[in-house]
Amino acid sequence: AMNLSIPFAKTGLPILIGTALLTLSSHGQPDPQWMAHDRERPLPPVVTPGQPGAQTPSSTAPSDAVVLFDGNNLSQWCSIDGSPTEWKLVDGAMECVKGSGYIRTLRNFGDCQLHIEWSAPVPPEGQGQGRGNSGVFFGGTRYEIQVLDCHENTTYADGSAGSIYGQYPPLVNAALPAGEWQTYDIIFTAPRFSDCGKLISPARMTALHNGVLVQHESELTGPTAWIGRAPYSAHPSKQPISLQDHGNPVRFRNIWVRELGPASKPEFTLPDALLDRYAGAYSFDHGGPVKVTRAPDGLLELSFSGFTM
Ligand code: MG
Repeated sequence: AMNLSIPFAKTGLPILIGTALLTLSSHGQPDPQWMAHDRERPLPPVVTPGQPGAQTPSSTAPSDAVVLFDGNNLSQWCSIDGSPTEWKLVDGAMECVKGSGYIRTLRNFGDCQLHIEWSAPVPPEGQGQGRGNSGVFFGGTRYEIQVLDCHENTTYADGSAGSIYGQYPPLVNAALPAGEWQTYDIIFTAPRFSDCGKLISPARMTALHNGVLVQHESELTGPTAWIGRAPYSAHPSKQPISLQDHGNPVRFRNIWVRELGPASKPEFTLPDALLDRYAGAYSFDHGGPVKVTRAPDGLLELSFSGFTM
């Protein structure tokens, strides 16, 4: 087995050196000296968070935010295919129902600031990745920040709460015990692709867990994956935000998002079934037939002949 030592860990060198190293590594690739989910990799130091404000159920969104969940209903959310979700409303929170699948927002978001509060099930059951596992995904289901009960629960570093799954461990472990409300504040920058699908700039995330910085401008190598490092494949910047069903009844509340960048019209990913319903042949009194079909990318395509405007 490889015997890797932690640089400077025992030398007591000034903290400044550590900070400089941290800054360098946070802008580069995931540290190549560790394999994905390497059990030898040092775990994030445990930090006791201050008062992030999540214990107040009445915490409110900023005035310019899109509220994705305010405790009343799941109207902003659906299953990945657009059908109604089976996740349930419990005590002003929405709870993952095992086996019901991921949920996603109806609306699409590119660069954004997301606030979300979550709580791991009590009593804690299972261990490692099996305890209080869910996840917050950007870019549809591509880029995951891990949600996991990491209070006195050991797992691999790059699968910890606040990790960018399989790529970047959180800078520290700022987890609270199961049952307590925890906050994520995440700044996501969508990757950019050229017209021919070449990566121009990678996805980036900065994240605070319970008010403590856990990701600092981390550059994703591609979609997060359990095994391997998947390469990027081109997609529009704006995609739904999704939450993972990993089989554990994790709860979420107070979810809001602020779109970053120039103001633009809201975009939505409509249910497949709804789009299918629009497909068909239409005729009008003063024009020829109009045909609506589903394009290979899932969007609706209009074709008509003899149609006069
Ligand atoms: Mg997960």
